[in-house]
Amino acid sequence: MSTHSRRSLLAALAASSTAQAGIEAAASGYANPRKVLLWESTRKEFREALEGGALKAVIVPTGSTEQHNEHLAMINDTASVTLVAQKAALLLYPNIMVATPVSVGISPHWMDRKGTLTLKKETFLAVVFDICESLQTHGVKNILVLNGHGGNVAPLRESVPQFAKKLGIRIETNSYWDAYTPEIVKKYMVSGKAPGHAAEFETSFAMAAFPERIHWEGVDYDKIKPHLHIKDPKSAIQEEEFAREAKLATTAKGEAMIDIAVKWTANRLRGMLAL
Ligand SMILES: [Zn+2]
Repeated sequence: MSTHSRRSLLAALAASSTAQAGIEAAASGYANPRKVLLWESTRKEFREALEGGALKAVIVPTGSTEQHNEHLAMINDTASVTLVAQKAALLLYPNIMVATPVSVGISPHWMDRKGTLTLKKETFLAVVFDICESLQTHGVKNILVLNGHGGNVAPLRESVPQFAKKLGIRIETNSYWDAYTPEIVKKYMVSGKAPGHAAEFETSFAMAAFPERIHWEGVDYDKIKPHLHIKDPKSAIQEEEFAREAKLATTAKGEAMIDIAVKWTANRLRGMLAL
């Protein structure tokens, strides 16, 4: 092998290991999934954690499958809230597990954008209730319904206290962005907005957590505009604003905001369980 070809081979290897490291870094939020993710665990692992007294609470993440402008994946909200839930559960391991996320939420307001899936309010609430009831049946006494989609907020706030009463266990709800005080939003977001929609915050989060889900060509609004057919002019203006704000996103902001949400969620659980 000539020096030149050896050098290019080494360069190729270095490039592929850098790419591999990038993928691993992006996936690091999902490290050790069997530790805290209910759906990756065996029944034996779940049973022993519960019966041994180590497992004290379960997080039920709720998200959406909805349009996130041209550049973010439709699973964005579900992926984001599940990541926060998992990281918070890992901080409190082995006391917390994360249930399978409710990955379709209440999104009728985005049905004019193709691809969005929506549940009716009553369907969504029935799914959340049935998951809580399943957990209660197994002996789980504390549940945090951790939300990651705006359309689910009011129905959850209104109904979760009734779920708790009906099932006779502790069930509480928050959205992970409840962690963000106005000061935090002002400090990290140039647009002054979080969570917003597919704009500075969500794009920063995605850059830090799952950059492979971002399609940057989609924030070039002038190029994408002819392909959009948004009837409501107010909604079209808003969409342009989101695309402009998405350009303000950075990985560092995403990392900081994720860290704040994870610590806040862990603290919320500590308070709930008096840990
Ligand atoms: Zn979103």
